[in-house]
Amino acid sequence: MRITHVVSVSGGKDSLATLLIAIERCGIENVVAIFCDTGNEHAETYAYLDYLEKRLSIAIVRLKADFTAQLAAKRLFIARDVRTGRDKSGRRLRWSNKAKRRALAVMHPSGNPFLDLCMWKGRFPSRKAQFCTEELKRNMAVGFQIDLMEAGHKVVSWQGIRRDESQNRANAKKWERVGRGLWIARPIVENTAEEVFAYSESRGVKPNPLYLQDMNRVGCMPCINCSKGELRSIAARFPEHPARIGEWEVIVSACSKRGFSTFMADAHQAKDRRVIFADLNIWARIEWSKTSRGGKQFNLLDEQENEGSGCSSSYGLCEQGALA
Ligand code: SF4
Repeated sequence: MRITHVVSVSGGKDSLATLLIAIERCGIENVVAIFCDTGNEHAETYAYLDYLEKRLSIAIVRLKADFTAQLAAKRLFIARDVRTGRDKSGRRLRWSNKAKRRALAVMHPSGNPFLDLCMWKGRFPSRKAQFCTEELKRNMAVGFQIDLMEAGHKVVSWQGIRRDESQNRANAKKWERVGRGLWIARPIVENTAEEVFAYSESRGVKPNPLYLQDMNRVGCMPCINCSKGELRSIAARFPEHPARIGEWEVIVSACSKRGFSTFMADAHQAKDRRVIFADLNIWARIEWSKTSRGGKQFNLLDEQENEGSGCSSSYGLCEQGALA
């Protein structure tokens, strides 16, 4: 039975080093590289994948989640829903006819996985409800591996995570048997970010150019968990990305029973949705990111800055702060 080594490539330094190690150890003919496209990536990352394909003579399989069926079911659900509930602050919550019209007018597949996922959920993901990693990356990668296994392959899933990235990854094993015919290899768990960069450089492979443009991590642009400094840099260097998020906030808000949803969620005392949206939308966050320490309504995000940015998934599918 054939063993296939699947490497999930994000465009970041850790998955690059992991891919290079997998190719060296297992032979390029036994390695399959995949990229889970969130639809919230920087154009440089797509161009970098093209570079890697040419430089390494390997095809990178692009995987993109499709929520067409979920959106159709949600439209039907909203149209029929007549229940009334209460939100955490005790406010009455229901799909009024006006809210239904608002949601049904925009809730159509856009072809962008991140936006379609948020329309389906009626909200943006958050640190506590990080369904983006699960729906856009983990499910796609796992589904790909299951298909391979059903086609008769044994699969080794290579993950580019390092123990020094976060508490969540501190005990990551180098090698793990997950089940019959499926293993996980984590070849760089003991390495530092500097060692990982040096390894790829020693093999003559350039890092993603975003690292040279003040970005500590590569992946969603921005990530819902990005730090204050990172948000400030993204707004200054790549204003088209916050502009896109601003458009998404309007669309996802229309799909929300509460009537609003912001890309970077936070607790807020106000009950009026217009006040909350005005304080927490991406443009308000960017303005806040330009201030020195403080900003009482944004304490949560400020604390996250100290922890380092990025996703805490132990699957290593979203890159953590590169040099944090
Ligand atoms: S990079 Fe951030 S926003 Fe993107 S999938 Fe991961 S956690 Fe979600």
